[in-house]
Amino acid sequence: MPEVATPRFRSVLDRFAAYKPGKTAVSPDGRSYKLSSNESPFGPLPSVLEAIGEAARRVNRYPDNNATALIEAISERFAVPADHIAVGCGSVGVTQMLLEAVAEPGAEVLYAWRSFEAYPVLVALSGAQAVQVPLREETHDLAAMAEAITERTRLIFVCNPNNPTGTAVRRAELESFLDRVPADCLVVLDEAYREYIRDEQVPDGLTLYGDRPNLAVLRTFSKAYGLAGLRVGFLVAHPVVAGAVRKTMLPFSVNSLAQAAAIASLAAEDELLERVEGTVKERHRVVSALRDQGWSVPPTEANFVWLRLGERTLDFAAACEAQGVSVRPFAGEGARVSIGLPEENDAFLAVAAAYPHRNR
Ligand code: PMP
Repeated sequence: MPEVATPRFRSVLDRFAAYKPGKTAVSPDGRSYKLSSNESPFGPLPSVLEAIGEAARRVNRYPDNNATALIEAISERFAVPADHIAVGCGSVGVTQMLLEAVAEPGAEVLYAWRSFEAYPVLVALSGAQAVQVPLREETHDLAAMAEAITERTRLIFVCNPNNPTGTAVRRAELESFLDRVPADCLVVLDEAYREYIRDEQVPDGLTLYGDRPNLAVLRTFSKAYGLAGLRVGFLVAHPVVAGAVRKTMLPFSVNSLAQAAAIASLAAEDELLERVEGTVKERHRVVSALRDQGWSVPPTEANFVWLRLGERTLDFAAACEAQGVSVRPFAGEGARVSIGLPEENDAFLAVAAAYPHRNR
């Protein structure tokens, strides 16, 4: 191909690849079990579908840019004032809004690594400097993170439970960390998997932020509420933080179907949380079965498990794929496997049982 002149791009784009979501494998006999993206395995409830259909009748109109009804519903459900809430296009959209509000060249953004893959991409785009603090035994090393804070640190992500390891930090540890963060530095507690937590010592961020104007709690409708395809997330924080973040929203970025579906999901929450209970039961079953097979599995409070596999990671993912099971490999580190329906989990457990190596 002849060389063509191209537009010039920001040099930061050379530093990372485009975000690659989990993919879907199909076995030679046509079976497919998607355990690669931590989604809910359950389709939408009839009441949610109905709300989406109703909203679809008016898609010639822009959505409510202020998401007034949705924010009211969130406010009522979580007993937080409406001006403490900001919504966005998925919690990843809210993460970008937060960075837009806070990060700039010269600033540092601190987070544990490995953690949610969108953090490095979005931090790089913001122009700020990423500072990554390695996990210790698959868990946030909050003491090391506190040590890594400098006068340039403007934002800190704490992903609780952590994606992809599933581990969660407990109240005492988190509170003593928060006590060490300067008031002008914002901490984002990413609770995308909050509804799957069963360890009572893991705090609900919504009980913490009231005393801490520099703490923002991030939630999503993508996981427990089963709306990953519609993209709606929100944060709860001091009104000064929520107000600043709202200013950075791309206009109309939470579409009208997403707003209607999220409101209907809150109305049907009991049923959705029952489904979550089923996933948590399956998580216990999968973790015990893996341990019985001889695997070492860190404790998980999320809807996925982590297998440390080092150099065998891609080989393990290929063994899964051959049976139509999609997992999320992180080359050289390990694989994250979502908890799905019982038959999906059985398909994964069968591959794990047959795999010739264990990770002890
Ligand atoms: N935070 C964490 C920790 C996640 O794992 C994810 C999704 N994988 C998100 C945020 C983003 O979720 P969404 O944008 O769908 O709300």
